[in-house]
Amino acid sequence: MDVKNKKTDDTELIKDGYITVIAGPCAIENWEQLDTIAGIVKGLGLTYLRGGSYKPRTSPYSFQGLGKRGLEYLKKVSEKYGLKTVTEVTDTENADIIADSVDVLQIGTRNMSNFALLKKVGMIAAKKNKKVILKRGWASSIKEWLLAVEYLTMAGDTEIVLCERGIRTFDTNTRFTLDLSAVPVTKKLSKLPIIIDPSHAVGQSDLVIPMSRAAIAVGADGLIVETHHDPSKALCDGQQSLDPKEMSELLRQVSKVAGIVGKKIR
Ligand code: PEP
Ligand code: MN
Repeated sequence: MDVKNKKTDDTELIKDGYITVIAGPCAIENWEQLDTIAGIVKGLGLTYLRGGSYKPRTSPYSFQGLGKRGLEYLKKVSEKYGLKTVTEVTDTENADIIADSVDVLQIGTRNMSNFALLKKVGMIAAKKNKKVILKRGWASSIKEWLLAVEYLTMAGDTEIVLCERGIRTFDTNTRFTLDLSAVPVTKKLSKLPIIIDPSHAVGQSDLVIPMSRAAIAVGADGLIVETHHDPSKALCDGQQSLDPKEMSELLRQVSKVAGIVGKKIR
């Protein structure tokens, strides 16, 4: 599958010879929380900050995100720290305002097969020169995932990055099963870069670092990791979020593996 992949300039999400580590909270909770975490991410020398503002929660009773207010915080924090931002688009209705507030549009696992959303996000990304992270549906084959990319690219050239975030299997020791074979397989079938989300895959903070090391070793182009200054108080996914010390340890370990495969962390 020869999918077009536009690479623009130094602000590209994935860069040859580098591992892009995107870090940040599962959800934006308030200004102070985002500001604190952005300061930590910047202090660690990273370029990309993640933070969900429209949260696609499995339970309607869970925290749903700050919506528009979170987008304003993302814009403000990006200006304050010079960080690039990543957030999820959950709906065709909010795609435009999200694209006006962030650098990278994320399509979550629950929406990988939402073709109307894929087409809309593809159109907006091409028009506004935004990058897109397409997560794999937790019950989707690699072929279905790559076909979802084609919906995204229907409207034009866009920098698309695949993200493996774990698939559903019979085992219950981890939240999902991280399919690391997706890295060499998608590289064989497409020209797309691929990053790994170890946080949602394993669902517990102590397993995030080992899976991150493995992801880099198998050839992933980056990681997206949930980080919180105080995971025990996080409104969303605290159990799988790394605190600042753990995040710094992740970068230390991952840098070593990156060195072995001839890459640097950014
Ligand atoms: C997320 O990254 O915030 C998220 C909800 O992830 P996923 O779509 O992989 O569950
Ligand atoms: Mn999360």
